[in-house]
Amino acid sequence: MNFLIYLIVFFFSIHINADEINLYTTRHYDSDIRLYKDFTKQTGINVNIISGKAKPLEKRILEEGKSCKGDLFFLADAGRLYSSQKNGVFKKISSKVLEKKIPAQFRSDYWFGITKRARIIFYNPKKISSEDLVNLSYEDLTDKRFKKYIAIRQSNNVYNQSLIASLIENHGLEYTRSWTKKFVTNFSRQPKGNDRAQILSVASGESKLAIANTYYYGLMLSGKKGEEQKEAAKKVRPFFPNQQNRGTHMNISGIGVLKHSPNPDNAIKFIEFLLTHAAQEHMVNNTFEYPMIESVDPPSLITKMGGSFKQDNITNVSSYGKWQTDAFKIMQEAGWN
Ligand code: FE
Repeated sequence: MNFLIYLIVFFFSIHINADEINLYTTRHYDSDIRLYKDFTKQTGINVNIISGKAKPLEKRILEEGKSCKGDLFFLADAGRLYSSQKNGVFKKISSKVLEKKIPAQFRSDYWFGITKRARIIFYNPKKISSEDLVNLSYEDLTDKRFKKYIAIRQSNNVYNQSLIASLIENHGLEYTRSWTKKFVTNFSRQPKGNDRAQILSVASGESKLAIANTYYYGLMLSGKKGEEQKEAAKKVRPFFPNQQNRGTHMNISGIGVLKHSPNPDNAIKFIEFLLTHAAQEHMVNNTFEYPMIESVDPPSLITKMGGSFKQDNITNVSSYGKWQTDAFKIMQEAGWN
């Protein structure tokens, strides 16, 4: 009898092992982990999470090669997705479901945008009137009237590299080189800190404008980063600039199936799950990103701050990767530390 129970447990555990996926991720949200548990409940497929920073994870995947047990790689910037694709990390995937749900400029044959992020301007209404910002574009940020106004993080930050890469894509190298030189002279201080640090600099009055992704502001306002940051965020207002009339610069967090994935079918199921209404709603309500699918509304805290701003739905986010090396070079040449 005991032996029979042993056998049942043995076969059951084999079954469990087969139904799993190994997810490498650079996203650091507890809410993501809760979401993956829903996926397991619905499908019986366990999700093992290996989290870390983009470069070390990619290095590990490449070094392990064919023996890598990973199925998926989840990254937080289109430029990073592009460079991982170039380095041969991903397997080509075709999924009608994903093609239908994700607009073409937010995916490639190898990776798929899951959430969107807007990189925008924050200002201190006590120092700048909103009237001074009407119709302001990213291109206008080199204006002399913004001398020593702008707080932004360092040039090694991938979100900044993607922003500059988008200028190269839409205006060319020559324009972006001279734009960046002027832009740097409008910095309020030596770039330092993360996106929230830029918003804090505006809140304290040290800087008049900050460039940061919207979800950092959402996180601060929500109180998840403590009372002090919540109060600081309340002193600051968001402004959504245009780029060459295309709309606000959008980036993505996206995912791809690894080249040597042992469970590619389950991996695709997982990506499709992330694009369901319920999963998208869960993600944006917890992280304050923008949804990839239109049937989901961003959380009210986020819609309140942006109203119906125009997202750049034209620029293909792959171009951020294509130009990222040139962007970084231009930034360094301009003295952007
Ligand atoms: Fe981020």
